[in-house]
Amino acid sequence: MRFLLLALMFFSCGTSTTFAQQRPASAGPADPKLIEDLIAANRILAMEGVVDGMGHVSVRHNRDPNRYLLSLARAPELVTAEDLMEYDLDSNPVRDPGRRQYSERIIHGEIYKLRPDVIAVVHNHSPSVIPFTVSNVPLRAIAHSGGFIAEGLPVFEIRDAGGLTDMLVNNAALGRALAQKLGGKSAILMRGHGAAVVGKSLPYVVGRSIYLELGAKLQAQAIALGGTVNYLDPEEGRKIEARRDYIRSWELWKRKAMGQ
Ligand SMILES: [Zn+2]
Repeated sequence: MRFLLLALMFFSCGTSTTFAQQRPASAGPADPKLIEDLIAANRILAMEGVVDGMGHVSVRHNRDPNRYLLSLARAPELVTAEDLMEYDLDSNPVRDPGRRQYSERIIHGEIYKLRPDVIAVVHNHSPSVIPFTVSNVPLRAIAHSGGFIAEGLPVFEIRDAGGLTDMLVNNAALGRALAQKLGGKSAILMRGHGAAVVGKSLPYVVGRSIYLELGAKLQAQAIALGGTVNYLDPEEGRKIEARRDYIRSWELWKRKAMGQ
């Protein structure tokens, strides 16, 4: 009997130790409002043409800044509460590791590690932005709505970090290089791929993603007119951003995207 008890204790300790090593602990249930907003963010980005079947949006867990919430690998327009997974900042899931996951989730974790001020991250293949990731014409701010672009956005050249790859930021070294290149900026373009956008909340990161796409489209139109383009000054951008919130737009986007 004593042997059996010892064997059971050993077995259970061994099991729990193995479990702790493999899986990070959960921060517990997230705020239902945060979950609702994360689902809305997914659908708004799809509705506005910033993401299609690809692309993703995450938010830090409200109970623990070292955890973030992100859907399993699913088209953003289809994401539901059941699809949301919790990750540590190394982008390991706290449960259900067998579910299919976004291979580029590492972008989110590595940015959260380097940027404590960032609460939400979007990775997208924003179609109007991509030409500016491969051209020597830099993306610049031409409209008030894109004031955050006026600071100048970096471009991530994946060849500098990983040589010739399949273009996906899908390991820690590439994710860290991307986050370092982002620095303190609002977004980073990714050569031949898309962009990563950051913000202090889901409305901010969604708003910036929408106006990054629109700003790129408007700049291409302004250049196509053929004259000289009069861009915003970085100081104008700073003053715009100091007053910026997306409260009014978020209410509208959310209502439209959620069919309410
Ligand atoms: Zn991608």
